[in-house]
Amino acid sequence: MERFSGRRALVTGAGKGIGRAVAVALSRAGAQVVALSRTQADLDDLRKECPNIQTLCVDLGDWDATEAALSQVGDIDLLVNNAAVALLQPFLEVTKDAFDRSFSVNLRAALQVSQIIARKLIARGAPGAIVNVSSQASHRALSDHTVYCSTKSALDMLTKSMALELGPHKIRVNSVNPTVVMTKMGRLNWTDPQKAGPMISRIPLGKFAEVDDVVNSILFLLSDQSNMTTGAMLPVDGGFLAC
Ligand code: NDP
Repeated sequence: MERFSGRRALVTGAGKGIGRAVAVALSRAGAQVVALSRTQADLDDLRKECPNIQTLCVDLGDWDATEAALSQVGDIDLLVNNAAVALLQPFLEVTKDAFDRSFSVNLRAALQVSQIIARKLIARGAPGAIVNVSSQASHRALSDHTVYCSTKSALDMLTKSMALELGPHKIRVNSVNPTVVMTKMGRLNWTDPQKAGPMISRIPLGKFAEVDDVVNSILFLLSDQSNMTTGAMLPVDGGFLAC
């Protein structure tokens, strides 16, 4: 039997990068996948690769639109809160717009989507697993990342709080905390060798993570192989956070 057969999974930010790869991997491992993202063309492209995947186009920064979109989704057993933005600004130039946008997508949407899915799991007495995609940036200050680091740090506390309150309902909640991955987000912020070089030199394994490194850790935390793990932050960082 395939690893996730009989399970329904929702992946946010599944139009590109890590989220798209998670959606494809879950589908190939037998899950029925709902892929949520903001750009319809990305979702259409995903369906060309995996016609079995159901798609949902919504901006998670919009609370009411998210509530309406998710009301059509049905029962979900596995949730990956992956969507995020990285709007980099020096601390002294941080704007209200960037702050509000970042917190609404990176933190508030994870809370809102998790509430909707967890309420349904609890109502039908089913177990579940949630993975929040955080970052090494939740634990370390990085130049120009004040707001991004703050959202990810808050996301880690959300993971622990959810683990505390959802554990009695057999819903596990964990995070993965990757180092840089060369997706669209990674390329925008880390292509400059002047920035990338010093970062790589702080990673004991001496390289950035691959998308599949992150996907494999997410699938582990969603699977029954991590049945006794909840409230944990799993670094996928080549040892960056150990130093
Ligand atoms: P990408 O920017 O490559 O992809 C992000 C996806 O999320 C896109 O499909 C994007 O859609 C979607 N998304 C963004 N905002 C919204 C929104 N408001 N509503 C719905 N969907 C949205 O990012 P990555 O794949 O690199 O990042 C995935 C996760 O991994 C994020 O949580 C990120 O913080 C985390 N991470 C990434 C690292 C990296 O170096 N890449 C390192 C550590 C953590 P659209 O493009 O249409 O806006």
